[in-house]
Amino acid sequence: MSTPPSIETLRKITPIDNSLIKYYPDLDFLDISDNIDKINKKKSKNLSDIETNYHSIGYFQNEKLIRIDQVGAGIPKETYIIWENGKVKEAHDFFLGLRWGEKISNKEQLSSSWFYTYENDLTKKIVWLNYEDRKYYDHGKMTVTYDYEYDSKGLLFIRQTVMGEGKLWKEPQIQISFDREKELFLKTCTISKSPLIAANSKVSDNVIDFKIKNNTRTCNCKKCKMPLSFIATVNLIDKRFNLTNIKITDTPVLHCFNCMETQHYNPDSLNLPVVNKVAFTETVYKFKRETDEEALEKAFLKIGGQPIWIQEDGHPKCSQCSKTMKFIIEIQTDENLVNGFDTLAFGDSGKLYVFACCDNVTTIPQWY
Ligand SMILES: [Zn+2]
Ligand SMILES: [Zn+2]
Repeated sequence: MSTPPSIETLRKITPIDNSLIKYYPDLDFLDISDNIDKINKKKSKNLSDIETNYHSIGYFQNEKLIRIDQVGAGIPKETYIIWENGKVKEAHDFFLGLRWGEKISNKEQLSSSWFYTYENDLTKKIVWLNYEDRKYYDHGKMTVTYDYEYDSKGLLFIRQTVMGEGKLWKEPQIQISFDREKELFLKTCTISKSPLIAANSKVSDNVIDFKIKNNTRTCNCKKCKMPLSFIATVNLIDKRFNLTNIKITDTPVLHCFNCMETQHYNPDSLNLPVVNKVAFTETVYKFKRETDEEALEKAFLKIGGQPIWIQEDGHPKCSQCSKTMKFIIEIQTDENLVNGFDTLAFGDSGKLYVFACCDNVTTIPQWY
């Protein structure tokens, strides 16, 4: 790993004249090389169509991303990506002295660096250095190493090792951040391989019942004993869903807004007639297929595909057949949906993930 060049040098050796410029609501250079592919697949926008008060600018030379600027509110940054023989070699990003609209430094500050190692044309190792920072976020230095392992079929897994300075980091923390067998397996654990998201009401050919009624069954939270809140019913009769193993067709989505615990229930055995609270008004949503990752991440309602977890992978096991339960739907926090004292908020901008198998439903909230 070489010493990172200064921002002046990078600005000089990365001329942006004649670059192709693309605008994005948010574009991050992340820590695994395939994010370059993900960035290339992201849909850019017209500047006038970006609704947030910050955005990212991507500069491309010969179809390669060479620089990202984060501009607007927050902590503006410049990220430089250095290519060699058609592959990313290093990347460095810099804070520019501004924090939430205030000038806190006259000098740019190196924030992170990425170093890539290849073997036989394949990524072998990526090291991400997050430098000590006492001005912008206040943390010690951290190093994350990604080791890539291959077999005759291709990429097998990526081992991620986190080391840092400070009391949190006495031992290196090691985890598998990609596992081919697991990925392939989890692709079968969904009701629909390609995800659908709630769309504007004009989309009529992909209607799926997502009903919100006032008089549906409910039950009490196993942990805090408070009545669970009824959120919606998802009707799974649609032929596009692979219903093997799932016996429930009208899946009630229940959640404990009191203790936020994961809930397991059997809808057919619920016989309490009263609903606690409904955070939605009565609506039927319409859905469309979506492949754009950003749209999927932002979708208020997403049916099928893979869950986009906020924290760790939480695929539950069925208590009847012991198989991994099928992913049905994820619901995002919407603070505007209020009914009585309840807001449709799963912790801090969280989501509720719904799974089903045999006679069982499981709902798992996660938040930031
Ligand atoms: Zn509870
Ligand atoms: Zn089962």
